[in-house]
Amino acid sequence: MTERIISIADERYQRLPPHVPAPHEIPAGPPTDRLGRRLHDLRISVTDRCNFRCTYCMPKSVFGADYAFLPQSSLLSFEEIERLVRIFIEHGVEKIRLTGGEPLLRRHVERLIEKLARLQTRQGQPLDITLTTNGSLLARKARALRDAGLQRVTVSLDAIDDAVFRQMNDVDFPVADVLEGIAAAAAAGLAPIKVNMVVKRGVNDAQIVPTARHFRGSGHILRFIEFMDVGASNGWQMDDVLPSAEVIARIHAAFPLRSLEANYQGEVAERWAYQDGQGEIGVISSVTRPFCAGCTRARLSTEGRLYTCLFADRGHDLRALLRSDHDDAQIARAIAHLWLGRDDRYSEIRSAQTAALRKIEMSYIGG
Ligand code: SF4
Repeated sequence: MTERIISIADERYQRLPPHVPAPHEIPAGPPTDRLGRRLHDLRISVTDRCNFRCTYCMPKSVFGADYAFLPQSSLLSFEEIERLVRIFIEHGVEKIRLTGGEPLLRRHVERLIEKLARLQTRQGQPLDITLTTNGSLLARKARALRDAGLQRVTVSLDAIDDAVFRQMNDVDFPVADVLEGIAAAAAAGLAPIKVNMVVKRGVNDAQIVPTARHFRGSGHILRFIEFMDVGASNGWQMDDVLPSAEVIARIHAAFPLRSLEANYQGEVAERWAYQDGQGEIGVISSVTRPFCAGCTRARLSTEGRLYTCLFADRGHDLRALLRSDHDDAQIARAIAHLWLGRDDRYSEIRSAQTAALRKIEMSYIGG
């Protein structure tokens, strides 16, 4: 008899009512956390639903047919998201990444992008708005997303080989349709396009060089992500992690590489260029080369919980403040208070013990 894995939806409900400090308790200006990190990036999950069942993120054994996804009423409305983003901008946020689940499943997501594209940073610059998608709906939506004000897009693609790709998304979705989405995004002017490949040893690592070969010279930036112990349902083991150093070595053997400087401080991906000028790749090494020291990212779940780390186990319920009679200044102080108290650096302290801890699902707060 197969073992039935109990849904961990309940984890979503471990929420903490944020403390609203008095005005004199919060220093003026954008907050920095206990490790001196500012708040620069806000990742917003606009849905907990997805049409893929990637085995390292949303395995069918947990996210099966009877999985209780969030009811529409509990999701933040676009107006509520816009209100929160205005407050986060005052705290120094300049970059917004829309995620999910699969964000393109959220109906009329273009309207949210239109709202956010009208906002400006504290310096009076347009917000940097990007989105992470599995590409399944991109061919249909790319033009509308661009017209709404989206600047860039990141597409998840875990293999160029159709059979391996179908195995990893576990819904038999063809790779050709995602490649068509990437082409449509490029044609719509969403550039540069980043392509993210999560590498799991023994599952798709043989796809590293073929996938690199496919995107060389395309102008798209392929990034290889180390398999992470996100959430509590992907059966993570260190043995399944292929260190980025080995990824680089394999590609270098086929297509010589040279390392590149980061585009900005806190950039997550390490950059490598093909020596023959055929573009660049990246590696994201949360397991073997943690980057917590430069982590300026906060995450907002689909129903308005603030998480200060991808590997957190509980969130802070901003929706409760939004839907009660708290004004923007009070909500701003609550967020500042949370960030000022932040000392997350999970990837630096990761161990077999921490890997076993129940953590919030990546599909719920976005990668
Ligand atoms: S582990 Fe947490 S603190 Fe470290 S980089 Fe990731 S999200 Fe940031």
